[in-house]
Amino acid sequence: DTKTSDFVIDDTLVENIFKPKQEFSHKGTYGRVTIVGGSYGKIGAEVLATKSALRTGAGLTFTLAPKCGYEILQTSCPEAMFKEGGTEYIEKFDIEENSVCGIGSGLGTHTDTAEAFLRFLKQYSKPMVLDADALNIISRDNKNIKLVPEKSIITPHPKEFERLFGSTADSFERVELARRKAVEYKIYIVLKDHHTQIITPEGKVYYNITGNAGLAKGGSGDILTGVLASLLAQGYTEEETAVFGVWFHGRAADFAAANYSKEAMLPTDVINEFGNIFEEIN
Ligand code: AMP
Ligand code: MG
Repeated sequence: DTKTSDFVIDDTLVENIFKPKQEFSHKGTYGRVTIVGGSYGKIGAEVLATKSALRTGAGLTFTLAPKCGYEILQTSCPEAMFKEGGTEYIEKFDIEENSVCGIGSGLGTHTDTAEAFLRFLKQYSKPMVLDADALNIISRDNKNIKLVPEKSIITPHPKEFERLFGSTADSFERVELARRKAVEYKIYIVLKDHHTQIITPEGKVYYNITGNAGLAKGGSGDILTGVLASLLAQGYTEEETAVFGVWFHGRAADFAAANYSKEAMLPTDVINEFGNIFEEIN
């Protein structure tokens, strides 16, 4: 009975997942991540996801974006390597080898982007993190969800979830629908909300209690994508990534709210608290 396996993410769970950096290690130890997104006017979302991946500790971070984002990304994220995927939007999913992908931030839903993305899904089988416009493209045809590699983590907010799987009467029904879909497609569903729920392919549900309404602002989801892709690249399992990443993102937001207020805090401020959260659990 899957109904008995619901968990609240607490400090003990998080401390057991967290893996501190080892003294005898190098950048190769901590994996490669490719953040894929951005389109003309939405390069900021790609900046946020890329910065977030960098600040979460990945060994090497690549940012695949259209050419119009080149100078912006190289200037705001000099530690990341730029890969060109098109001119004003992405038309080529030229993913760095042996890297974990986090796809969707500011990606846009141009027909050429959509076609290239679906083609990429058809020939790629490694678990990845999918959010935002990556999910919106998938929503256009209910056959597309089957292309998502097993064990991938998808992070829909309520509206994106509805576009993917249909509407439900309330949040309880939504979790039950998510449970059926996570099991059917063997994926992790991160249902982003005030108390985000994480549903595993086994139908297990975790409830997160960190985070606050200061996150109700454009860009908050993009930094979660960066966190998750970065953790996955560093060797955390998909389940550890989803549980730890969602908790971490919310905890950083709670620190940012304490320093800047829920009104004034920005996703950038949340990224800037990541160091304090690592300090806290180290
Ligand atoms: P997105 O809508 O994609 O930008 O994602 C928003 C992010 O902020 C998700 O991680 C949500 O869980 C979080 N969030 C938004 N509003 C709230 C809220 N009122 N309380 C807690 N977390 C929130
Ligand atoms: Mg979003």
